[in-house]
Amino acid sequence: MPVGTQGTVKAVPQDTLESLGAEIILGNTYHLYLRPGHEAIRRMGGLHKFISWPHALLTDSGGFQVFSLNELRKVTDDGVRFRSHLDGSSHFFTPEHSIDVQIALGADICMAFDECTEYPADRHRTEESLRLTIAWARRSLDHFRANTHAVPWFNPKVCRTQCCFGIVQGGMYTDLRRQCAERLVEMDFDGYAIGGLSVGEPRELTLEMIAETLPFLPKDKPRYVMGVGYPDEIEQYARMGVDMMDCVLPTRAARHGLLFTSEGRLNIKNKQYAEDQNPPDPACDCIVCRRYSRAYLRHLMQSSEALSGTLNSIHNLAFYLGIMRRVRTSLEAESSTLRTTN
Ligand SMILES: [Zn+2]
Repeated sequence: MPVGTQGTVKAVPQDTLESLGAEIILGNTYHLYLRPGHEAIRRMGGLHKFISWPHALLTDSGGFQVFSLNELRKVTDDGVRFRSHLDGSSHFFTPEHSIDVQIALGADICMAFDECTEYPADRHRTEESLRLTIAWARRSLDHFRANTHAVPWFNPKVCRTQCCFGIVQGGMYTDLRRQCAERLVEMDFDGYAIGGLSVGEPRELTLEMIAETLPFLPKDKPRYVMGVGYPDEIEQYARMGVDMMDCVLPTRAARHGLLFTSEGRLNIKNKQYAEDQNPPDPACDCIVCRRYSRAYLRHLMQSSEALSGTLNSIHNLAFYLGIMRRVRTSLEAESSTLRTTN
């Protein structure tokens, strides 16, 4: 899922996302709540309509940003008080409030409010944090079930509803991860995310936590790993049984001139590309690689031209979406072979 933090996948227009085959994008509750405000978006018919994206949308709970962008936050059992990074104003987020905001935004998938445990965290701290996440998951789901009819596009005649995913936390402790997964599955969410990863831990640990958590999440519901990862990681996780992932990496790296290609990472700022007439990735058939050279992309970057971020982002998104398409095709082929041989 390309990440559209403020209701836009940075530098990439919606019609381009469609042409790249993006089926779902992510919006950040925290940012949209602060600006333009969830009530304004509700009045305009919800996020789909506001940003003109008639496809699937997912909103996070706002928890991750509350914890990562706010040094002055105060956490209690009830919720989190924090200051806006925009104007310093004070806000209080509870699980119920996060769900209300997400219902107003009207994404297809909303996320339970959780505490993303920092890394490193000792066992005592992780258990304390997990206690909050589990209690908040219960409150999020109860509030969601009682209020989902308030979604801006609700129509009792149409069988389309918002759904709500729970988030497995538990730091880097496999038994806490398992405990959290089991508790959330008892609550019966529509899907399950594994959160609190890619927060600075070594990659083997990320992999271990995913591998140890997946078996406790139902296979017949979406399983989503939040905030990962590099191209080889997303392929590996998808093959392990992860259905959904989101990451700012393809677009953020693109804006800094880092391109992911079939030949590895390419830093377009390097002088060696100054007169390189080759496409960014000779094996890629995206609209950027079909039309532009490395030399031109480097020139745009060197000149700080706005088109630079756009073209680099389009290629990186095409590369990421291409990986997922190939994984899906090969998994489908494997499962149809299995069906034939059985
Ligand atoms: Zn390309």
